[in-house]
Amino acid sequence: MELDIKFIVLTHGHIDHTGVLKEVKEATGAEVAIHGDDVEHLQDRLVAVTFGLSYSTPPPPDRLLKGGESLDIGDLHFEVLHTPGHTPGGICLLGEGVVFSGDTLFNYGVGRTDLPGGNYSQLMNSLQTRLMTLPDNTIVYPGHGAATTISAERKGNPFLSG
Ligand SMILES: [Zn+2]
Ligand SMILES: [Zn+2]
Repeated sequence: MELDIKFIVLTHGHIDHTGVLKEVKEATGAEVAIHGDDVEHLQDRLVAVTFGLSYSTPPPPDRLLKGGESLDIGDLHFEVLHTPGHTPGGICLLGEGVVFSGDTLFNYGVGRTDLPGGNYSQLMNSLQTRLMTLPDNTIVYPGHGAATTISAERKGNPFLSG
């Protein structure tokens, strides 16, 4: 099957999600999209050092997101949800019954808020207003770890049900 990669949508700018951006963009020619408030993280060496990661300097983004955009990729339709807290420009991508939650929501966990730009009350607000309002059967694909569902997180995530 021949794939035509249209977008590389970054859930946020942290190096563990963008470290091979240069290589992936060169290989695909796809448009890089990121929230405007996270562009600075693309060049953030401090976080790279924190994670002990090496990386190639990422290319500048082609499209800046604000939240609320619709991204149409072939027959698939996604909506950008701005979910600040882990980083100021964190987003989740919602569509087709799934949500790609980046480092905002994990399987029985939530993103850390102790890195530059992190804010715990903002994260909780994003989770309550943008993710816990989604239908129960929405499948969640987090930026780290196993997939889950909104229903399972509503019931069992200690950060949300406590
Ligand atoms: Zn992160
Ligand atoms: Zn991460």
